[in-house]
Amino acid sequence: MDRERVKYVLDEKEMPQYWYNVLADLPEPLPPALHPQTKEPIKPEDLTALFPMELIKQEVSTERYIEIPDEVLAILRLWRPTTLYRARRLEKALKTPAKIYYKYEGSSPPGSHKPNTAVAQAYYNKKEGINRITTETGAGQWGSALAFAGACFDIEVKVYMVRISFDQKPYRREMMRVWGADCIPSPSYQTKSGRNVLAKEPDCPGSLGLAISEAVEEAVSRDDTHYSLGSVLNHVLLHQTVIGQESKKLLEKIDEYPDVIIGCVGGGSNFAGMFLPFIKDKIDGIHPGLKIISVEPASCPTLTRGPYCYDYGDEAGMTPLLKMFTLGHGFIPPPLHAGGLRYHGMAPIICHLLNLGLIEARAVNQLDTFQAGIDFARSEGIISAPEANHAIRVTIDEAIKCRETGETKTILLALSGHGHVDMAAYQAYFSGKLKNYDYPQEKIQEALHSLPKV
Ligand SMILES: *Cc1c(COP(=O)(O)O)cnc(C)c1O
Repeated sequence: MDRERVKYVLDEKEMPQYWYNVLADLPEPLPPALHPQTKEPIKPEDLTALFPMELIKQEVSTERYIEIPDEVLAILRLWRPTTLYRARRLEKALKTPAKIYYKYEGSSPPGSHKPNTAVAQAYYNKKEGINRITTETGAGQWGSALAFAGACFDIEVKVYMVRISFDQKPYRREMMRVWGADCIPSPSYQTKSGRNVLAKEPDCPGSLGLAISEAVEEAVSRDDTHYSLGSVLNHVLLHQTVIGQESKKLLEKIDEYPDVIIGCVGGGSNFAGMFLPFIKDKIDGIHPGLKIISVEPASCPTLTRGPYCYDYGDEAGMTPLLKMFTLGHGFIPPPLHAGGLRYHGMAPIICHLLNLGLIEARAVNQLDTFQAGIDFARSEGIISAPEANHAIRVTIDEAIKCRETGETKTILLALSGHGHVDMAAYQAYFSGKLKNYDYPQEKIQEALHSLPKV
């Protein structure tokens, strides 16, 4: 029977009780975030208008394990631990000797990994007496995750949603309304950042960087309101490490260890959550050959084409400066359907690890990702989010390589979410309207000119 098994599950009582903090184990320290005006390393008090102190502490902590509060575990238990699958049918379809495992985060209420951090962030805000949070959202995954978390802790949530997605993905908006959040399109007339852009370009489709500017501006201008970010920051990646810890525990039980770990990266949170609990083994020399592959869109190629330097996290330049691979904070990516991967920067932790040669990066074309997602759905059943299709593409490519070389590698795929609210993207694919975008060289060159001098 175990030779046929496809689902590996933990009992609720085996859920991780701690988040794993890679800052304790880095071979070289992470370059610090800098104040946007003084360009000096940021101080905790610079961030108190935006975040609760507990999250600010987590952002810079070097404690290896940070305890998950009971109140957070109580909510995570609504869908965690998540299932690890062996993709036996996909393996057969590909005629590969590789073993493919995937950890599926689409079983959460909003349908992705994002509530793993949304719930924790809402909890720490509530504990500090904050009853109102602003945020931005691209395709709507993060907005709906924070809306859900707000409902759990009775917090009012206001979401600035990138205009193009607001129009293209109406059902994410309705999900936010079901959980009680207020969602408006960005750019909006409610903030200075929004009005500035609308004055020049009334039909602006918006960008994640611009929506961040609007949400930050509102949070800074109101005492009763904090801001929440769904990816990129250290504490967000920290909260996602439940994914990798559960995966590691499940694989240990069946005497497996991955040769390759693959995931898609927008800001880097789901994939970091998966691989960080494994990377310590690579740093310590226990598994020096472990391959970790980040996958990004060829039309928003932050890790594969961007320079490694300090840049703002948002369009207007209000956030701290982060050392990251970046396409420039003014870069507005082409309107690809993987909305969660349309970001100019990347988590500083991911960038640091890439720079140290501990992980690698690959870029793939939109059409190839949908083909992979459809192949996956026809063998494994799950219809994945367009973002996750990027990781599936490279997983299939690696499995085919194994078929050619005869290697029986063990591949671990981070499957970040389902695509049930992204069916318009699949519809575009089937009707031949989906296309690959050329590498936007000129737009990126232009945006890189605006990099801050540090
Ligand atoms: C938001 C999102 C991503 C990209 O964000 P990361 O922070 O890189 O994980 C990937 N997949 C899904 C399903 C998402 O919702």
